[in-house]
Amino acid sequence: MALMATKITIADLFPDDQGMILVAKDAVDGLPRHISEVANGKPCGCICFGCERPMVARNGGAVRAHHFAHRPEDMVYDCTTAGETALHERAKEIIAKHRRVTLPATSVPGLDGKPVEVTPERSIDLTDVRLEVGAGEVVPDVTATMPDGRRIFIEIANTHPCPREKIAKLVAMGVEVLEITVRVYRETPLAELDDIILDLAPREFLYSSERAAKADEIAEERRRMEEKEFQEAERLVGIYREPPTASHGRAAELVEEMSLWDLEGFMDADDTLPSAFIVPRRQWQAAVFYRLMSTQYPETVSPIDMVNRFKEREWTKRDLVYITNEQSRKIAADHDANFRSANEEILAYMRRLEKGDIVYQRPGKTFYVTVDFKKRLKAILEALNEADASREAVEEAYKAIDALVKPGGGRMPDFDEWLQQHADRLGVGVREFLADDDLVYQTEESLNEIGQVIEKRVGGEWEELPEDLMGLPMVGLVNRLMQAWDDVHASDGYDWRALIK
Ligand SMILES: [Zn+2]
Repeated sequence: MALMATKITIADLFPDDQGMILVAKDAVDGLPRHISEVANGKPCGCICFGCERPMVARNGGAVRAHHFAHRPEDMVYDCTTAGETALHERAKEIIAKHRRVTLPATSVPGLDGKPVEVTPERSIDLTDVRLEVGAGEVVPDVTATMPDGRRIFIEIANTHPCPREKIAKLVAMGVEVLEITVRVYRETPLAELDDIILDLAPREFLYSSERAAKADEIAEERRRMEEKEFQEAERLVGIYREPPTASHGRAAELVEEMSLWDLEGFMDADDTLPSAFIVPRRQWQAAVFYRLMSTQYPETVSPIDMVNRFKEREWTKRDLVYITNEQSRKIAADHDANFRSANEEILAYMRRLEKGDIVYQRPGKTFYVTVDFKKRLKAILEALNEADASREAVEEAYKAIDALVKPGGGRMPDFDEWLQQHADRLGVGVREFLADDDLVYQTEESLNEIGQVIEKRVGGEWEELPEDLMGLPMVGLVNRLMQAWDDVHASDGYDWRALIK
């Protein structure tokens, strides 16, 4: 073909930098003609690719750049598609000649977000290849029929991709839409475009029914999966909220000890609070506390250590053993803000101890008891020992009276009960009382005094009881003692009544 000698490129089909048209269509054979290969003026024999009106070649002078122009009398305002049309014509010619095109592989994001291939890259045969022209609002560039009878639209993207609105309208037509991008081949002669259009140029489906069907399928699968996840999360929240079903003897003792040591603030008083464990919250909290206390630095305790320990003891609710942090965060975000995995619960508890200056955290979420807390606890234990000693001393004096009274009858109250009443009478708590050496000493003295009086009277000797009977129920006792004194002295002619005149 003669025109090929001029090597008209894709770029030549479009107005140049000065807006000059360099290629027009031969009115006889329809092939592109370059301005450099046609006769000057109207005899150039060319028409416009866009509007098909005759063109005039302005390639005579040496002053102005050579170019094609519409005739002045045509008053063309809207002829802007000449280049596009020329390119589409060329593409149509190539596809029609070879009766095939290569389709790209298609894929969609799978459930895991990674692409899943839907159709492989393949060449398909085409029939009824047409160049679509017209004034309709959406006109595909080239159309053809696929082997299964469906129509396919082929868009040739030159400088910019197919506009969104056009894609949306093409998709709405429910046919396959392929876009072939020739941007990087702008300097390629039209004669060398066959392989590029058919196979080489980048291409993608703007719409593929197979791909759309697969995307729907995956969306449905995702919906089902999310539904299942939702149900499972609700089930786990239900289990999390179940009240404790077991009490651990040793752990309960540890709780008592912690209370004794003024550490109630580091245990949840409400045993019914939801948790990942079957034992009450304060019990597993006490177990964590004791694990930390019994670990000597540089050894430390991590939440994972405790998770494993509790798992072995079967303290973790069975369905919550294998909850990951990721899972629990999702459940907390979507279902119940309080939901925590066993690991998170233990970590949160260790952080709570950290805030109370009981433990330090080393990098890597592993904890150990602070020296300060060990000192604090030592002081608490010493005070408790002192209180124990005070208690024993008071109890001894109390029991001494008890021993004297018993043979004669008259029950003494239980010591603990009496101690509580005694502290109440003094306007202090029992612990406060036991920590006050003066009060303890006075109490001991008073009890001893009462004891001595009783002892004397039992021996037949008159002695006034002290005024303060320390809240002891002494009336019956006193009556019995008087009777005893009477019995001893009846023969002597003494009368106790004479003594108290
Ligand atoms: Zn035109």
